[in-house]
Amino acid sequence: MYILLMGPPGAGKGTQAAMLVEKFTIPHISTGDMFRAAVSEGTELGKQAKACMDAGQLVPDSITIGIVKERLAKPDCQNGFILDGFPRTIEQADALDNTLEELKIKLDRVINISVPAEDLISRATGRRICKNCGATYHVTYKPTQVEGKCDTCGGETYQRADDSEATMTKRLSVYAQQTKPLVEYYQDRGLYTEIDGRQAIDKVLTDIVASLRSE
Ligand SMILES: [Zn+2]
Repeated sequence: MYILLMGPPGAGKGTQAAMLVEKFTIPHISTGDMFRAAVSEGTELGKQAKACMDAGQLVPDSITIGIVKERLAKPDCQNGFILDGFPRTIEQADALDNTLEELKIKLDRVINISVPAEDLISRATGRRICKNCGATYHVTYKPTQVEGKCDTCGGETYQRADDSEATMTKRLSVYAQQTKPLVEYYQDRGLYTEIDGRQAIDKVLTDIVASLRSE
């Protein structure tokens, strides 16, 4: 099963990816993990990527695509993969197309776990984390018994800067802008399925699996 997984930050993509890994016994390939692996293995492309990152520069497409290509050619991808965080642009989508063709792989489905921005903002802005033990809470969905105090260890809870409304609004608008052309790209190819990420975790998974079987 060759799956491309998309979804805005906070939509539960990581949770679904982990469940799909178990269900289909295929690797979850995220861009971050792929970069870290290439750098730690010291491949030529990994070295080039590291040089860019160390210099505080964006890793150019040519290197990113090369790293993706090396990763997808590995034996554990023979029966499928869940690709996450790539492609981000049409240029990258075209490059992925070419790579898959070379590897004689056909994408089964592009899944977008969709959650409206206002829901993601309320999820994020209500999140509280214990300074002491890292336990996570939510002011509405999982409140602490005593306001501002961790149930487990009594530590003080706080809101991460990343979870502020302004930061989330900005991130989601950047994400939406980046993603729109890709959605159209995969819709045109008849590969695109949008899944309602507001549903219970199990129902989201059921919907994803159903979409994979209904092609
Ligand atoms: Zn705690």
